[in-house]
Amino acid sequence: MKPYLKTTPTREGFFGEYGGAMLPPPLVPHFEEIAAAYDKLSKSAEYMNDLRYIRKHFQGRPTPISYLKNLSDMAGGAQIYAKREDLNHTGAHKLNHCMAEGLMAKYMGKTKLIAETGAGQHGVALATAAAYFGMECEIHMGEVDMAKEAPNVVRMKLLGATVVPVTFGAKTLKEAVDSAFGSYMEQADKALFGIGSVVGPHPFPMMVRDFQKVVGIEAREQFIEMTGELPDVVAACVGGGSNAMGLFSGFFDDEGVELFGVEPGGTSSKLGDHAATLTYGVDGDIHGFRTKMLVDDAGEPAPVNTLASGLDYPGVGPEHAHLQKTGRVNYTVADDKESLQAFYDLSRHEGIIPALESAHALAFALREAKNHMGKSILINLSGRGDKDIDFVAETYGFGE
Ligand SMILES: *Cc1c(COP(=O)(O)O)cnc(C)c1O
Repeated sequence: MKPYLKTTPTREGFFGEYGGAMLPPPLVPHFEEIAAAYDKLSKSAEYMNDLRYIRKHFQGRPTPISYLKNLSDMAGGAQIYAKREDLNHTGAHKLNHCMAEGLMAKYMGKTKLIAETGAGQHGVALATAAAYFGMECEIHMGEVDMAKEAPNVVRMKLLGATVVPVTFGAKTLKEAVDSAFGSYMEQADKALFGIGSVVGPHPFPMMVRDFQKVVGIEAREQFIEMTGELPDVVAACVGGGSNAMGLFSGFFDDEGVELFGVEPGGTSSKLGDHAATLTYGVDGDIHGFRTKMLVDDAGEPAPVNTLASGLDYPGVGPEHAHLQKTGRVNYTVADDKESLQAFYDLSRHEGIIPALESAHALAFALREAKNHMGKSILINLSGRGDKDIDFVAETYGFGE
């Protein structure tokens, strides 16, 4: 059988019925340029060697796998392991695709990177890449988010990026996407758009997945080296879905390995209280691609809610919608409360403060451990929690 990753997407960027590229006509040639460049670079030994060098000497890859012995003992049942993407430079998996996008821009002769950011994590990662490659960087961010995520605004500015405040509409992520696309359209000759997850029009869901694949390739090898076996269960949190696609990529062809995507359940299953797109959403089009999404009565992207701002998106990567339909990946939710408890537990009992996003995957593992006696669960610890400590301590205290 053909390896799964070789079967998707189609040339037009479809994963089953999801994906594609619905673009304003002026952007079509630019996305075709990106797709052609990626096609060429993904087969270029020189590009791949440069990327390998960056990953090793700048990002600090490979990141290790840690056995969470204390939490495994406490949960009782499965042995729990974590792939440590929190140890990646800048503290999350996002640099895996941002450095690759920056390197692409360099090979394409571009001098500028443009993107939107919600919580600011993607903006910081892309600004890091721009600084490394000596490029200009323009990050669009809603004014509301800028106030909420002030430290990330400071980081981006220190890294040399221009942060463009978005002042229309709700002044959050959706408007920032519109603003960034508009600006990109005017300077696409010299700039590359850097999308922050496995979302957006083709070829981004495929490119970002491929750039994140390193997580799964490393993890599979490391897990076998550590335990002599494959993990029984592999799980990751899903916002747009890039850290999950990265880890899952190592295991698609291992039929015995169960894959779980963990969505943010927020405070309840009521629309507006969560951001669990695959669990509660419907088919639809958002930001230039077909996927599952959360919509309001008018059919517009619905408001979403979660403790973890990096999971705060009413759509999801099209490949996840496809993998849910084929049944290869199971999708489930972890709510705010159990994710917060997992955040405290990992901090206190393992000495690792996780990102609130990653705490969702851990919450799933802690909950499921009892149902997997004698088995192993590998989660993606997609990022560190430094960005979340003030919010958690001020809002919820120090846990018990
Ligand atoms: C942005 C972010 C996520 C969510 O993005 P995905 O594309 O769903 O992986 C998860 N964890 C951390 C630490 C993040 O910064």
